Amino acid sequence: MKPSLIVHGGAWDIPDEAVEACKYGCRDALEAGWSILSRGGSALDAVEAAVVVLEDDPVFDAGYGSHLNLDGRVECDAIVMNGATLGAGAVAGLQRIRNPIRLARAVLEQCPHMMLVAEGAERFAKDVGIPLCDPRELVSDAEREAWQVCKQDKHAAAHHRGHEQGTVGAVAVDAQGKLFAATSTGGTCCKLPGRVGDSPLIGCGCYADSTAGGVSCTGYGEAIMKIVMAKTASDLLRSGSNAFCLSESSRDPSNPGSHSSAADTAMLVAREAVHLLGKRTHATGGLILLDSEGNPGFAFNTPRMAYGYVTTGGSFFTAV
Ligand code: ASP
Repeated sequence: MKPSLIVHGGAWDIPDEAVEACKYGCRDALEAGWSILSRGGSALDAVEAAVVVLEDDPVFDAGYGSHLNLDGRVECDAIVMNGATLGAGAVAGLQRIRNPIRLARAVLEQCPHMMLVAEGAERFAKDVGIPLCDPRELVSDAEREAWQVCKQDKHAAAHHRGHEQGTVGAVAVDAQGKLFAATSTGGTCCKLPGRVGDSPLIGCGCYADSTAGGVSCTGYGEAIMKIVMAKTASDLLRSGSNAFCLSESSRDPSNPGSHSSAADTAMLVAREAVHLLGKRTHATGGLILLDSEGNPGFAFNTPRMAYGYVTTGGSFFTAV
């Protein structure tokens, strides 16, 4: 089977000055993941490698450079899910892990449980040989400055602009047809300590089912949870374009009565899930997905989303 890879770096009001950096970040993530997939490597290795690159890049809200909570500390959440087994590894409330996706993978592969949080998760990290860092190592200067402004002004929305980058994610299908999806985040700026959003929750910020597709979400977590957005999109993928009534906004306006190909369906499903987010919760966000054949789909109702995928010709497409 032909491998496939899609990544995102968050759907928000990404400021003009961050656009190029977000595009480069997505391209670097595609390079990391594709160098594995194109040589016959596994989708799990590919999503991990892509997400590590995005976590290490301070332009995104994950790992180093995550948004700070109300106390001025980084608290990260991450998940990786296996589409063949429906098993997942999820972690939340991490303060001392440089690459939360690595710990999520360790939970998937080496833990009897599917989700670990805070101190317990960090203790498990030590047990499996993942080093703990000083929490201050995860704080970038830009986020410290943004947090100070936000905090002084009671977290007024006007101050979010300038650090509106988001959560990261990746979905991959490998040559063996294995499908994995992954999401990693620092959550929302000035969140209450202990707050966990959609990102590490199965079916909310991430879902993978080899019989349908894999999905990674971004946006306002409290709303994404309400519609279980990743699982909703995966269910729509299984149904296909003929089995559900696409809303007006999801249809291709130039060809309203058309029967769509699988590639069209992947895009239609992405739009439909985001449309549902807006309709049922009045919130904003976005998602990326691959169907079980590796066809990419993406959609967002925010001003911008950073994303990228490998085209059928093997080149990298990135956009913000
Ligand atoms: N969904 C994430 C959260 O609510 C934030 C984001 O996507 O940027 O934690």
